Amino acid sequence: LFITFEGPEGAGKTTILNKIVERLHQHQIDVLATREPGGIEIAEKIRDVILNPAHTAMGERTEALLYAAARSQHFFEKVEPALKQGKHVLCDRFIDSSLAYQGFARGIGIDEVLAINEFAIGKRMPDITILFDIEPAIGLARIHAHNEREVNRLDIESLSFHEKVREGYREVVKRYPNRIKVVNADQSIDLVVEEVWHILKGILGE
Ligand code: C5P
Ligand code: MG
Repeated sequence: LFITFEGPEGAGKTTILNKIVERLHQHQIDVLATREPGGIEIAEKIRDVILNPAHTAMGERTEALLYAAARSQHFFEKVEPALKQGKHVLCDRFIDSSLAYQGFARGIGIDEVLAINEFAIGKRMPDITILFDIEPAIGLARIHAHNEREVNRLDIESLSFHEKVREGYREVVKRYPNRIKVVNADQSIDLVVEEVWHILKGILGE
């Protein structure tokens, strides 16, 4: 299965993903963990271009196209081959990030961003998506508390932008209610891991 983790900064996606991968391995389940934007050399380079704080002139359409370009390369070079080998793939962010951030929060429009992503990857969608939902102020506070490195870049975006991202994700859930499972990320990491594990083991038949 192709499984994606979504949500805002500070929701705990990456930490929880690592713990879930560890648990899948304990159960002898073959899983490839990866992330977007990035996951392979070309896409990591695109990531550096997008997230470079010096690139203040970058327009939102350029940004949306670069995310879609990184996604296309990463999907065909890494994700699809692994799925074809019968592995599960667990990806930190995917298309729903673009729909929520560029489509909704940056105001391009969810349908427009969906269209360029269909150009990039066709109609491919994750089999299951976990959305880590958290109050933006709480997510941002976690980052400030635990991850000094990230603070400068994130400070560029206002709290109101992150509120829009959350609203954007809610719109995306309305479109894909069966695929996306919303988990309350404002709990201890261990509790969130248990909730995610419960969802995934039901689907993976463990
Ligand atoms: O997932 P991660 O925190 O590594 O994402 C890196 C940054 O890219 C975050 O600040 C996130 O808000 C931003 N991002 C974005 N649009 C996307 C995907 C990520 O603005 N489609
Ligand atoms: Mg992360």
